[in-house]
Amino acid sequence: MSAKLRESSAVRLLGRPGLQHDQAQAALAASFSVTAMAAPGALLDEASLPLFGVGECEVAEQAHALADQLTNGLCLSPDRRSHRALLIDHALTHRSAHPLQIAVIGHELARRAGISSCIGICEGEPWIVVRGESKMALVGPAQIAGCPNSQNVRPRCPHQVARAVLTEVRACAPPDSARRANRLLAAMPGGRCRRHS
Ligand SMILES: [Zn+2]
Repeated sequence: MSAKLRESSAVRLLGRPGLQHDQAQAALAASFSVTAMAAPGALLDEASLPLFGVGECEVAEQAHALADQLTNGLCLSPDRRSHRALLIDHALTHRSAHPLQIAVIGHELARRAGISSCIGICEGEPWIVVRGESKMALVGPAQIAGCPNSQNVRPRCPHQVARAVLTEVRACAPPDSARRANRLLAAMPGGRCRRHS
């Protein structure tokens, strides 16, 4: 598929209402990567296997298992400088991931393993929010001291996370990719996203 075709298929996909985080990020990766890499979905499926069954544990244990899989299973280290670390295929295969991709990857592992989670912004940073019936726990590249106040966590839907990734790519990628990010941002539905569950 040509770069132009990948870009227009990403635009179509990013406009869909029922979009999932992994689909959105796979579409972005496909429109920016020069070579076609292994589908991120298959890598996520495999990486989620050690977490199966964890969904029945307490929230704190779920969060701990998820953090352990991200840090010691996938060996992801946070990288805020390289624009490639903003693309999910690169993050999964090179182990260096922007905090937004760490949040996407963690949420997708949780979703596959039946752990209730979402992506949220708290104190300006993206987090995986593991949700129990009465408690929640944040998992991410750093620790926030104490117990996060649920009122300070703002959930982000797949469209909003895709927009955040594109905004970062536009700011730090070489001109060609920055222009592509700008075109994708302009083509994405504007205004407020419909609320995802
Ligand atoms: Zn949305």
